[in-house]
Amino acid sequence: MSAGSPAGLAPLLVGERLDSLRGLLDAAGVDSLLVTSSTNIRYLTGFTGSAGSLWVDVDRAVLVTDGRYRDQAPDQTGAAGAVVDVVVVGGGDRSPIATLAGGCSSVGLEAGSITWAEQRRLAELLPSTPLATDGLVEGLRELKDEGEVDRIAAAAAIADRALAEVLPSIQDGAVEEEIAMALDHAVRSGGASDRAFETIVAAGPNSARPHARPGTRPMLDGDLVVCDFGAMVDGYRSDMTRSLRIGGTRTGRAADLLGAVLDAQLAGLAVVADGVPIAEVDTACRSSLEAAGLGDAFSHGTGHGVGLDIHEGPAVSSTSTGTLLAGQVVTVEPGAYLGGFGGVRWEDTVLVTADGHRRLTLSPKEL
Ligand code: ZN
Ligand code: ZN
Repeated sequence: MSAGSPAGLAPLLVGERLDSLRGLLDAAGVDSLLVTSSTNIRYLTGFTGSAGSLWVDVDRAVLVTDGRYRDQAPDQTGAAGAVVDVVVVGGGDRSPIATLAGGCSSVGLEAGSITWAEQRRLAELLPSTPLATDGLVEGLRELKDEGEVDRIAAAAAIADRALAEVLPSIQDGAVEEEIAMALDHAVRSGGASDRAFETIVAAGPNSARPHARPGTRPMLDGDLVVCDFGAMVDGYRSDMTRSLRIGGTRTGRAADLLGAVLDAQLAGLAVVADGVPIAEVDTACRSSLEAAGLGDAFSHGTGHGVGLDIHEGPAVSSTSTGTLLAGQVVTVEPGAYLGGFGGVRWEDTVLVTADGHRRLTLSPKEL
């Protein structure tokens, strides 16, 4: 809830974002937008409450929220430097929105974050039929400013330290659930406000499931282990996966799998740069795994944007149509999963730069 920036982090440029959004309204065919995604409201105003909607038109921004946020809403928007009026209403009262919409002929709604029921209610209330918009604020969020990158990097550094702390415990006899709890604890005690998402620790056959839940099976010598986790700092998240093998020699099927997926990840990272078609990152990872005979074992997309949400734009997959832009933060996370045997994934969160990328998750890949 605190205002201002955590120590040592560049400030967030929240005050400029409403104008950036206003610059998109015309092309979207609307003269105003009712922002209903709480993450988007946070991005635009600094308000972190879970209830509220934000009216934005060419010369006004009005946050409509309820009495629980009577003090917090003006405090946070003021501290963030966002020019926003706050209107406090009883729960569910939408009349201020109807009033604001009075002079507007085309009100946009966020199609990705509003329920069918709420859209119906607003359609009855507004003077004209609301229009669907898609990803206006999400598009702005793809490009991170310095303060945002600082927060993601700080989250990544906390996760790096957490893994270094917990790594010695990942051995023969360790239990997935206990390692996951140890990572969560290390992330919190390392300064994160929360973990970034539900931690995955998956060993042996469980590691062949990309989104496995940690279980109670003790790890065995020779098991592959996948740890996928992250931290949150001031709302911004990090995402990292490291894979390893319990004990044993450095040769054999598990070692080959670790090496082949790492080669694929490095191939993907090598092409990340401003102006590169996003699908090429996916192709680089996929071709590398295909050459190793593991094309069929790579069963998910190559990556995603990271920021206030753990999964945001741009998606990094074979169907991505855009190009990477300096300032985007994305993951590169190929994996290979062999049912009944085990799986491997290597994942880093990176900042796209003019001539390549800056890796934000820095844990070693020789575990
Ligand atoms: Zn991950
Ligand atoms: Zn990820």
